[in-house]
Amino acid sequence: MDGRLEFRDVVHDYGSGPVLRGVSLDLEPGGVTCLLGPSGCGKSTLLRIAAGVERPRGGTVTVGGRVISGPGVHVPPEQRAIGLVFQDFALFPHLTVARNVAFGVRGSAAEGERRAMELLERVGLAGYGARYPHQLSGGEQQRVALARALAPRPPVLLMDEPFSGLDNRLRDGIRDQTLDILKEEGTTVMLVTHEPEEAMRMADQIALMRAGQIVQSGGPYNIYNAPVDREAAMFFSDINVIHGVVRDFQTDTPFGQFLTPGLADMADVEIIIRPQHLKMDFDRNGKGPLPTPEDGVPARGKVKRARFIGNSSIVEMVMDHDGSELKATIPGVFLPKPDTALWLSLRRDRCFVFPCRRQSRLENPYYS
Ligand code: ADP
Ligand code: MG
Repeated sequence: MDGRLEFRDVVHDYGSGPVLRGVSLDLEPGGVTCLLGPSGCGKSTLLRIAAGVERPRGGTVTVGGRVISGPGVHVPPEQRAIGLVFQDFALFPHLTVARNVAFGVRGSAAEGERRAMELLERVGLAGYGARYPHQLSGGEQQRVALARALAPRPPVLLMDEPFSGLDNRLRDGIRDQTLDILKEEGTTVMLVTHEPEEAMRMADQIALMRAGQIVQSGGPYNIYNAPVDREAAMFFSDINVIHGVVRDFQTDTPFGQFLTPGLADMADVEIIIRPQHLKMDFDRNGKGPLPTPEDGVPARGKVKRARFIGNSSIVEMVMDHDGSELKATIPGVFLPKPDTALWLSLRRDRCFVFPCRRQSRLENPYYS
């Protein structure tokens, strides 16, 4: 079966306000889609609807074009050919590792055993078939859970926070290994996570969720570098916000002019930039670098605090022009003393300009 998983206008609630408010999402066959969002935004609910353990109030879910959930249709979980991996792994404690993995395989016992051995080898647990789950470490249990879910060759695999029970040091290696196996198997994967870094590492496609809606979906590069709004930008890293007001389709800031076409005169805008996209230069007799089209106009500030965090340094600045604080991340070791004067400029291609959510001054009744 083709593993294309599609959600159309899925809505759900548990009786006290909407939890999913019309979710539409396409998961390409063989791709890994990460459903990313803060705790409580509805990720697990969407996954449980795909699994069939929750019946949505409305909308349609299809696999390979076949409706598994929709008006008047509810294919039971065991008939959906969908694999599941949960946060707590949920292995059968009274079955050996080999029997856990063979559990869902159709056909003869010999076939199940063969497939179990194949997958245990694939996840690096070839000699572990006769053990019981309690004799395994958390990382090993996670790999058994993955092997068990993949054993029946499901066209679609759903994973709910599958790495969150593991130590940090284990996690990176297991994520990489899991991704290799998922790609070899060619399964369509929906992986739920609240960690942006995990989504960036694992996903072909990220679907960013907030309050029961998908606010943006796309490849990791696009979603990181072209966020739809301030909240989407903030979800992936610290941000700096520079305020401005539109005049004649442009916005003047201490860092130069920004074109802001399509925004009304006097509209408030926010220019947003991630800390690693600020440039820093030393002060030379009260002067900074010359303005350039790429980096705009430099503005001067003084170091408030600088910290080294391993692969980079975070320098917090207080700007001369308005006392606002900006944060820059500089690769390697850069630890200027407090009160050192430095010039900051913004990489213009890395700035995001958004209208402020609050009313523009023109629309504000207090100004009219
Ligand atoms: P996420 O996985 O993104 O953290 P969930 O889908 O688990 O979010 O939950 C979304 C919202 O629905 C939360 O407000 C949660 O409290 C609520 N919720 C989840 N499951 C149930 C349930 N079985 N009964 C009532 N409310 C639930
Ligand atoms: Mg959840």
